[in-house]
Order: sequence, then structure tokens, then C-alpha cells
Amino acid sequence: MQRLLAMSSFGLLLLVVTAINAAEPTASQRNVVYITWDGFRWQEFFGGAQELYISKDAGVADVDGLKKRFWRETEQERRETLLPFVWTVMAKHGQVFGDQSKNSIAKIQNKHKFSYPGYSEMFCGFADDERIASNGKFPNPNVTVLEFLNGRPGFEGKVAGIATWNVFPFILNEERAKIYVHAGITPIPGTELSDRQHLLNEMIKDTVVLWPDNQIDSITIQAAREYLLQKKPRVLYIGLGETDEWGHGRRYDRYLSAVHNSDDFLRRLWDLLQTLPQYKDNTTLIISPDHGRGGTIRDWTDHGAKVEGAEFVWMTAMGPQVPALGVRSDVEVSLSQVAASIARAVDEDFNAASPKSSQPHPGLFK
Ligand SMILES: [Zn+2]
Repeated sequence: MQRLLAMSSFGLLLLVVTAINAAEPTASQRNVVYITWDGFRWQEFFGGAQELYISKDAGVADVDGLKKRFWRETEQERRETLLPFVWTVMAKHGQVFGDQSKNSIAKIQNKHKFSYPGYSEMFCGFADDERIASNGKFPNPNVTVLEFLNGRPGFEGKVAGIATWNVFPFILNEERAKIYVHAGITPIPGTELSDRQHLLNEMIKDTVVLWPDNQIDSITIQAAREYLLQKKPRVLYIGLGETDEWGHGRRYDRYLSAVHNSDDFLRRLWDLLQTLPQYKDNTTLIISPDHGRGGTIRDWTDHGAKVEGAEFVWMTAMGPQVPALGVRSDVEVSLSQVAASIARAVDEDFNAASPKSSQPHPGLFK
């Protein structure tokens, strides 16, 4: 009888220990997925489709068709129509920064207002206006949060970047960082490819090149999904770029379509993550652009040091450690804070390793 009691209390202890472990994931298990929408404006992010731009002037081929698709009476309806996942899921269960109507400003720190400086700022945690002053293919001299995390216990080989733009291997300094980067119009590397990856490589070969430096988003999206399923990274960066390309091309219809697709990708990705034990209830999702664009019908297509307003951006995040505060008011943040927030999402401290880097977004984490 005593032996039986001892055995059953040992069994009970085991049960309790197992239950505690299941309820509270330890720091070393968390994941983060960070996604960028290149040059997607705060105006559409917060306001949905803009009436003035649903016009031939902004390159719209089918004005009535686009109106039907994205124009609604109220601003709330317009943004929920354009970005349903962001506004009905992320804004409810997470946080949003940069709503200027709520005295909330999100800005870039660098003075250049174009991509490499923006990405370097968000990944390194500070602006380096002197050294990061072009979109050229030069290795980033500064350490990104991805390189930092890849060197931390439990993360080695579990950090990756998949992106449309072929400058990312340099921005992320793939060689020094020793992380997986797949970017631009290049086949998915490796010898043990899945059927879907073989199909993607055929599509990469067969798809008309719209922009020599940029893959189309649909292929990057699928490549990222396959990578996630195959390699189960703990830190995954996905860089989408069509919003910027269609903006430069003065095609407001395709600019909106691209971001609508990107939002739908978020929904599918989030649903997928919740079916995978490693990621379920254990993954933070962070989204931002790398810069804004002009604020008029003339210069909405453009950005750069001389374009007024292209310094304004936005940011949204949700996850198990992110209190559901929704659209934040009376707070100013900068793009440079993304690096520390990515690290914080997986319980790591980027500021300690890189004292120049900005702190995580205030109030973003419990
Ligand atoms: Zn651009």
C-alpha cells in the first residue's frame, strides 16, 4: 500500500511538472516572424484606399472596378476592406503605432528615406547616414539583430531572411552573419527540395521579369512558406516589395492589390503557425515598411531625402507577450526600435549587445 502511494505521488509530481512546462513556454522556445512591405504609406495603412488616387492620374486602369473593390463610405470600412487581417485581427489582439490622428508618430531616423538605409536602421537599431548612403550591393558594416540572434544559444541556424529584393544578402551581411538568405530572382538553393520548391524554381525561371532586382511577391511568399515548414526557423524575416515597385510605376491599382495580397498572406501564415506546435501561441508577428512616400497626387510615387513626408511610417505587432492595446495614441516611435523589439520577442536583449541600438517600442511587451 505504501509503495503504491509513493508511486502514485511520484506520478502526480510528474503530471504537475509536465503541466507547468506545457502552460508556460520557457524563454528559449519563443519565435518571431518579421515582415516588411516596402514603401507602403501610412496614409493607406490607416485610411484604406484614397479617393483622389482612384483615378487615371494615379495610373488606375479600371477606375470603377477599383472603386468597387476598395472604396467604402467610412475610413474604418476602407481600411478593413484593404487590410482585413491587420485591422480585424492584429489591431484587436495586438498593437499599432503611427496613427497621426491619435497624436502617434512613427518615423524613420535616417535622412535618406530610401530602402537600404531604412532596412539597415530597422535591423541594426540605428541610422548610419554616412556609411549607409546608397542602395548599392555593399556588405553592411553594422551587425543586424538577425546576425546577433544567430549567435545566441538555441538560435544558430534558426535565423533566416527571404525577400524579393536582391540587395538583402548585403544588407543582412549574409556572409558574416552566416544566416540563410534567399533574395531576388534566384532559384531556391539546395539539393533536397520539396515538390513545391521544385515547382517554384520552374516558375522563377518561367515568370516574365518585371523588375530585374526584384522577385514578384507571390513567389517570395510561397518560398518563405516552404522554408518555414521545412526548416522551422525561430526568427524568420520576409521582405515583400511589390508595393514599392508599383508605387514607382504609378500604378495605384496594383499598389493596392499588392498590399491586399500581402495582408491575406498574413492571415494564411498566422493560421498555419497556429497548426504547428513549435509556433502555436508562441510566436510574435511584426510588420512595418522601410520608409514612406510622398503625400500628394504628384509625388506619392516617390520617396528620398527631398520627398516631404516620406519619413513617416507605421508598425504593427501581435503575439503572446504583446498586450492588446490596439491603436496606440500619444506615443512617438522610430523605425530603429524594430531591432530591439525583434530580439525582445524571443526574450533576447539586443541593446546589451549593441548599445547604439534603440530600445524596444514602449509598452509593446508585457
Ligand atoms: Zn523605392
